[in-house]
Amino acid sequence: MTLTGGVDIGSTTAKCVLVEDGRVVGKSLAPVGVDIVRDADHAFDEALLDAHRGREEVAFIVGTGYGRFKIRFGQLVVTEISCHARGASHLFPGTRLVLDIGGQDTKVIRVSERGEVEDFAMNDKCAAGTGRFLDVCANALGFDVAEIGPVSLTARRPVKVTSTCTVFAESEVTSHLSRGKEPPDILAGLHASIASRSLSLMQRVGVVPEVTFTGGVSRNEGMVRALAQRVGLPVNVSPLSQFIGALGAALLGQERAAGAGA
Ligand code: ADP
Repeated sequence: MTLTGGVDIGSTTAKCVLVEDGRVVGKSLAPVGVDIVRDADHAFDEALLDAHRGREEVAFIVGTGYGRFKIRFGQLVVTEISCHARGASHLFPGTRLVLDIGGQDTKVIRVSERGEVEDFAMNDKCAAGTGRFLDVCANALGFDVAEIGPVSLTARRPVKVTSTCTVFAESEVTSHLSRGKEPPDILAGLHASIASRSLSLMQRVGVVPEVTFTGGVSRNEGMVRALAQRVGLPVNVSPLSQFIGALGAALLGQERAAGAGA
């Protein structure tokens, strides 16, 4: 029995997953603040608590994500692109395309049958079409981001949201609201707009089934539905979707630990 850890320090949240023989035995999720070193430590400790295990029991730790170089413990750092590919293929072995929408960026990864990265594309530097875009618009409408998926599913006449820039979208949302548009219809329009942007990015590496949606934004069921409609394919989403990068890191750790004879 080998216990390994994956720590994914993203732009907005820290995720940690502990895996034993391919099975998730503990996890944690916490916001990332200014002290990334401390946040990484905290995420790891919380996952250990969740699993009722001690640090000394973990054979191998892999760090990933935007803040991976700030992780002071662990044996290896791997890009989140490889980790999302590995994690998504583990949960959905038929995965050939991963769409990861996180707090500040969007990535599309084409994966092989063995879960290896074949090609990838990323959004440009701005936050358009990412979690941040939805966080700002949710706030402008007076919702918590966790509410906007279910609310958008009640839309009757989705509005067209044309602004792609986060700042302009926020004022467009406010102006739709002041013209009497319903919040569910505005939210459905926002999701449709992100789905279109995501499809364009997916087309850069080739749209092939099965598509697996990962990252925090995949927790938004309105977004999942908009994406499946726009892409014209079913979209795999796991209850662990926000943890898939950390899961992939922990699974890569299992392989390394096995290789090292741990
Ligand atoms: P990162 O790795 O860049 O920190 P995550 O993959 O953790 O980002 O995703 C963070 C984003 O996920 C947030 O900006 C938010 O928009 C979205 N999100 C987080 N939790 C939920 C939720 N319960 N429902 C819908 N969206 C969510």
